[in-house]
Amino acid sequence: MKIAFIGLGNMGGGMAANLVKAGHEVNAFDLSEEALATAKSNGCETFADPGEAVQGVDGVVTMLPNGEIVKSVYEGSVIGKAPQGSVLLDCSTIDVATAKDVSAAAEAAGYDMVDAPVSGGIAAANGGTLTFMVGGTEKAFGRAEEVLQAMGKAVIHAGDAGAGQTAKICNNMLLAISMIGTAEAMKMAERLGLDPQKFYEISSQSSGYCWSLNAYTPMPGVGVESPADKDYKGGFATGLMLKDLRLAMEAAQTADASTPLGAHAKELYEQFAKDNAGLDFSAIIRTL
Ligand code: NAD
Repeated sequence: MKIAFIGLGNMGGGMAANLVKAGHEVNAFDLSEEALATAKSNGCETFADPGEAVQGVDGVVTMLPNGEIVKSVYEGSVIGKAPQGSVLLDCSTIDVATAKDVSAAAEAAGYDMVDAPVSGGIAAANGGTLTFMVGGTEKAFGRAEEVLQAMGKAVIHAGDAGAGQTAKICNNMLLAISMIGTAEAMKMAERLGLDPQKFYEISSQSSGYCWSLNAYTPMPGVGVESPADKDYKGGFATGLMLKDLRLAMEAAQTADASTPLGAHAKELYEQFAKDNAGLDFSAIIRTL
């Protein structure tokens, strides 16, 4: 397929390279010259204008910072510019309402569109092992699947337009809560005189088992190797976790859902992000 890829940052750069590796022709556009130069060295054809990058393609993939930018790129450079009938995939993490609006506008103009946010960070984007949670019609999902499979290890149809974003923010709200809970329990065990490694050994095989403890242990030198062992560098940035928690709380309010722990997790990450937005989100253990 011929695919336009817009947004070649930390995540999009590796994803576009994996589309090339899978045999797709990739037209790349980004506002950053540096991102374009890397895309070129990875085998993409680069363009100075997004409207030109989408000419003659079968599909468009976007990986952009937020909902406002996604809306402006689709309204200004994709809808009405990419060939009618092409399949559009927004892999950015954005608010549910904007995802639904952009999909509706795309469908009204004759495109199939999915929201397909990802789980997995930069390493998974580079390695082609992302998990995609996809919102859209059966037909749109069917068309998007082949493209997504070249960039991920799992592609799951979550439901109608917006369902991918819903799955993503609910998952990340759960992750934030479970990370704070894991950190709290580890620090309390230590404070009570229990060796944290012993606590890890016990709880990771007991009902305290969870991804934050078992696969991403937030205390240096304890449990599995994780960003904690690299001074909380790399991994999933606190600033991005805060972004997802804000999206989750906005959505909870719209749906009148009760999320007391999600709200508290957002407050704690808001506080922590003031001076630590670039550290991995598990570094919140330092506040306990
Ligand atoms: P990034 O800031 O590294 O990349 C975004 C890219 O978009 C940049 O290269 C920027 O120049 C480009 N851009 C901005 N406005 C543009 C426009 N109008 N036209 C074209 N290009 C434009 O961000 P990232 O870490 O790659 O994240 C991208 C998305 O993926 C975000 O929505 C983020 O929440 C989500 N995400 C990130 C991670 C992660 O670990 N980094 C994990 C999961 C999901």
